[in-house]
Amino acid sequence: MFSAPITHPRKTSMLLNLSLMAPQSVRARYRTSIRFLYAQAADSYTVMSYIDELVSALGKEKVLLDPSERFVYGADWSPRTPDEFVPPDVVVLPRTTRDVQRMIKIAYAHEIPVTAGGGLTGMLGGAVPIYGGIYVDTTTMNSVVEVDPKNQTIRVQAGATLQEVNDAVQPYDLWLPHQPESKWVSTVGAAIACDNDSTFGVRYGKILSCLLSAEIVTGTGEVLELGHRKAHFTSSGYKLKDLLAGSEGTLGIITEATLKLEPIPASRQVDMLVFPRMGAAVDYLSRVLKAGLCLEAAHINCKRRLNFYTHSYKLKHGRDPTIPSWAEALLAIAFAGDPEVVATQREYALKLAKDFEAQLVEEREIVEAWWASKYTLDFEPFKQKWPDSQKLKKFGAADPGVPVGRLEEFYHKFIETAEKHQLEIIGMNAYLEHPSSIGFSLSCAVFVDYRNPDEVRRFREFHDELSKLAVAFEGTMSTFMSDTYQKAPYLELEHGPSLKYMREVKRLFDPKGILNPGKKFLREVPKK
Ligand SMILES: Cc1cc2nc3c(=O)[nH]c(=O)nc-3n(C[C@H](O)[C@H](O)[C@H](O)COP(=O)(O)OP(=O)(O)OC[C@H]3O[C@@H](n4cnc5c(N)ncnc54)[C@H](O)[C@@H]3O)c2cc1C
Repeated sequence: MFSAPITHPRKTSMLLNLSLMAPQSVRARYRTSIRFLYAQAADSYTVMSYIDELVSALGKEKVLLDPSERFVYGADWSPRTPDEFVPPDVVVLPRTTRDVQRMIKIAYAHEIPVTAGGGLTGMLGGAVPIYGGIYVDTTTMNSVVEVDPKNQTIRVQAGATLQEVNDAVQPYDLWLPHQPESKWVSTVGAAIACDNDSTFGVRYGKILSCLLSAEIVTGTGEVLELGHRKAHFTSSGYKLKDLLAGSEGTLGIITEATLKLEPIPASRQVDMLVFPRMGAAVDYLSRVLKAGLCLEAAHINCKRRLNFYTHSYKLKHGRDPTIPSWAEALLAIAFAGDPEVVATQREYALKLAKDFEAQLVEEREIVEAWWASKYTLDFEPFKQKWPDSQKLKKFGAADPGVPVGRLEEFYHKFIETAEKHQLEIIGMNAYLEHPSSIGFSLSCAVFVDYRNPDEVRRFREFHDELSKLAVAFEGTMSTFMSDTYQKAPYLELEHGPSLKYMREVKRLFDPKGILNPGKKFLREVPKK
């Protein structure tokens, strides 16, 4: 049995990789821009009296003014050209909730935009401070406040990475099963603010399933605790905590969170099956769940994604794997628990597969490489999952959600749309994200050359078209990235008149509209 590691010894800095990936010419342009910013800076500081207030309230070591330091906060993982980097006017490095509160009170008084950010791995520009102002780098708030093993909870500051949370609770034989691929860098606050998906969604759900309580600082500087402490659920009051999922830092800056933990399973078995159609993989998953099996992870990869693995295999071994040419979908499933239980469940699941024309992937190397790429970001043994990719181009994705019965139909629309916009297709992943039931988050991914403004523009058009199409399919525009400024212009399409209630909620938490302006809603300039 292949037991996948539960933790990983190496923390990858994606930001560093991102900057190193940039070719010489791009890095040279960045440096030119930095010099330009230096020249601008001297003038602008003199008029920014709020910066003096920030320095005296927080201390100068917590306030970054140097343009070269601010520059890296001008972009995240979203496809953008170097010209589209928008560094904030000032970066704040808070240590405590009190620091955040002091900073917001100053911003509130001067009506300065405030954008919170974590690891900057967001894929749609959520943490990019498009209106300038203050950027709050929450990664300096990464302390563990309390681990309570008996009640299976952890209280952490919101800038802790998901991996740091797991490192802190592993000695108690506990883990936080909310695990996006980016867990080495992405933070607790962002996981909540983006409503991310997770490798283990089919068993443990999305972030709200493990979020018990959160502390925020609102747009007026008020500190609020939202949630139900260590109780697992509540029927009391309104569920204001749930508003934080997907709020993108527009309602408050999340400063601490109490998260529900789970016992680490003793073993895990990952397998892959290929199907002649994507719809057959969906029907199979439905059957597995109907049988009462307890899946820990279930991910469908389209034919194009499957080809990355067969291609890498052939490169390495000089021969094709035994995967048949008729395979149109690759399904990865995992079971976890006591070895005997896992073995029984696996056996039954593989027996059911015979009724769906499925074939097991015999090459364990492919299965383990997929798992490594998903879970540990370690691409061995193929070194690189996507040959020659990522060096010159980044991946960009749309994240729509469609009814399960229309997944295959939507897949074809994705291919059609990407081809129409002349984008190189990576492929589609569909991840089961609802505990013990069918419900997918989708990643429709393409390569984007961020040095090519026309390609970046075509990516955005592709993204918008696919998001709108998902609504026409009776689905949703976003399943794990949220809206950012990208979907803000056409949010009404999905939400209709309820958008005005959302605006009222925003106003209640952030009356001056200073929190991450332009995200979710187009920016409203408040009446003076
Ligand atoms: C290689 C790679 C793999 C990825 N894998 C996954 C995956 O498996 N599943 C998935 O869902 N996503 C994935 N993502 C997307 C991304 O990692 C997530 O959206 C993640 O939540 C971003 O975390 P971050 O700390 O980098 O946030 P940032 O990019 O810094 O910020 C994201 C958003 O959260 C807000 N925010 C951050 N901190 C706070 C706070 N304390 N309070 C309020 N708002 C806050 C920001 O304003 C912004 O709107 C992946 C990205 C990459 C590059």
